[in-house]
Amino acid sequence: MTSSMRNYPTLVLRRIRLLRMPSWRRNLSKWVSANIEPRLASERGDAHLCELLTRITPRLSSALQALDGGPEALDDLQFAGRLHQALNPLMFSPEVTVRGAFNAMLPEIARELSMDELDVAMRIAAVAGGRREAIVAAGFRLLERGRHDEAAACARRALDIMTACPLSQKLLMDALRARRSAGGTLTAAEENGLSDLRGRFCPRPFEVIVSGQGLGWNEKTGLTEQVMGSTYACDCAAWVPFVTGNMLEGESPDAVWNSAGMQEVRRSVLDGDYSYCSRSMCPAIVNGNLPRNEEVTAPRLRRIIDRRETILSDGPRLVALGHDSSCNLACPTCRNDLMMANREESERLDRGRDRVILPMLRNRQIGVHMTSWGDPFASRHYRSILEALRGPDYDGVGIFLLTNGLGLTRHTWETMPQLAEKIVELRVSVDAATKATYENVRRPGKWDVIRENLTAMGELSRAGTFIRNRFASGREAVSSDLFIDLATPYSFVIAFVVQSANFREMPEFVRLAEEIGADVVFQKYYSFGHEPAAVFTSKDVTAPTHPEHNEFQTILRDPAMQNPRVTKTFMAQLETRSA
Ligand code: SF4
Ligand code: SF4
Repeated sequence: MTSSMRNYPTLVLRRIRLLRMPSWRRNLSKWVSANIEPRLASERGDAHLCELLTRITPRLSSALQALDGGPEALDDLQFAGRLHQALNPLMFSPEVTVRGAFNAMLPEIARELSMDELDVAMRIAAVAGGRREAIVAAGFRLLERGRHDEAAACARRALDIMTACPLSQKLLMDALRARRSAGGTLTAAEENGLSDLRGRFCPRPFEVIVSGQGLGWNEKTGLTEQVMGSTYACDCAAWVPFVTGNMLEGESPDAVWNSAGMQEVRRSVLDGDYSYCSRSMCPAIVNGNLPRNEEVTAPRLRRIIDRRETILSDGPRLVALGHDSSCNLACPTCRNDLMMANREESERLDRGRDRVILPMLRNRQIGVHMTSWGDPFASRHYRSILEALRGPDYDGVGIFLLTNGLGLTRHTWETMPQLAEKIVELRVSVDAATKATYENVRRPGKWDVIRENLTAMGELSRAGTFIRNRFASGREAVSSDLFIDLATPYSFVIAFVVQSANFREMPEFVRLAEEIGADVVFQKYYSFGHEPAAVFTSKDVTAPTHPEHNEFQTILRDPAMQNPRVTKTFMAQLETRSA
């Protein structure tokens, strides 16, 4: 028998399968060009998009084969996984600025299976696990049908997977708006989130640049990966979840500070649409603190408003660094394992330090925030920046130090005297008031070490060492001409990320702060996508659906929590929201 005769049955079966296949899948490349391509936009142009789509089409075709088996495929975890994986290059390529492939496919899948689009989305969402697209797609369809509470629940589920997801945040606000229109009640924070912000001003995108981590697509490995140096135009990536460029890859400080993305966020503030800001996370928005344009008097900001400036020649007032993950702890709220930069990453970090970061800080009045990710003493890269700040070129630099505090020993203070001279604000993340809880939530930290170090920091703060201590009002700090959140900025603060494992210790934590002479920040626990959504949900006691939520609310009313040392800025995020 010749080989063509041997292959004959296989060829016939394939032919039959092809004939039975609906035409959209039979001609998937054509369908993708006609239906997905027009929905997308890429900063690298149409040819780049075309190339990306050519690459994903075979994987998409293979994932969609499961539909041959009928609607049961929708309940299959593997189908949901393969579908999302096929689309990952689109979803995680930062240069693709407008996405919509999943939404484009839903009507076709529904037509093929003779089902309702919403049912298709809901069934895939039910098995989607840590993938947000189907959940968000189901949420928007629920909203179209007036089922706003279910839509809000979808948004919250998607945000539990990844807090910094702009589309999930939009879905939540649209659902809350619909609830209000239908006569439903909202909390004060939610009402503030929905308010018209035209004519209101926020200084942050004109003063701050954050260098953090974003998720990107690695073409070589075919996997998602963390992108070091992704920049954001506000203090926290979850508040403005929009990547404006890259601190480590930028050509110069100016190219990073005035990138097209930075200009676009500034435009959105000046126009008052605040399109890139999270209306459920940003403290200034949820607390209703944004000033009216006419109330802004600081000369630099006045000039920016009056001339509608989006390109700023004088550079940032605060550079926040959080691009190196290296840390001596692996707190379960943040990561699953200890992380240290490898050699290749260290070289990239050092190139970015020499080309952009240090030139951005040199001979200027500027604040540097270290760090929102990783620890300034455990990371070789951050430590090298702290060392560089000893030089006279950096006399104008003030340091906003955020550390887990384990490396800030009495010895460190002695060997790095520039720290005590330059620290504007010292924030230490502790998350516990007892040894047992500390060593559970800050692994593998040691309570005895942090307790001793906190005492030493308290002594320095009481002696008036830190810069903010030296001014009566604290408003002379280098980072802002306009404090929107803090009536009285602090100089030494201990921080506590609220979760089921520690919330009962909140009053005790306030007493600890009193003892060492610190202020306190309680913060909501955000999902960084490093743990399954169900694990996050089981820890997030701020959710009304959590079984310990009522007990948590009682703790918030404890007299100790009314202590003036407790910073009010973030409390609205902890108080009861609508379900
Ligand atoms: S309004 Fe909030 S989220 Fe937007 S830039 Fe200002 S502080 Fe950031
Ligand atoms: S100390 Fe901070 S950076 Fe380090 S693991 Fe804990 S939360 Fe993450």
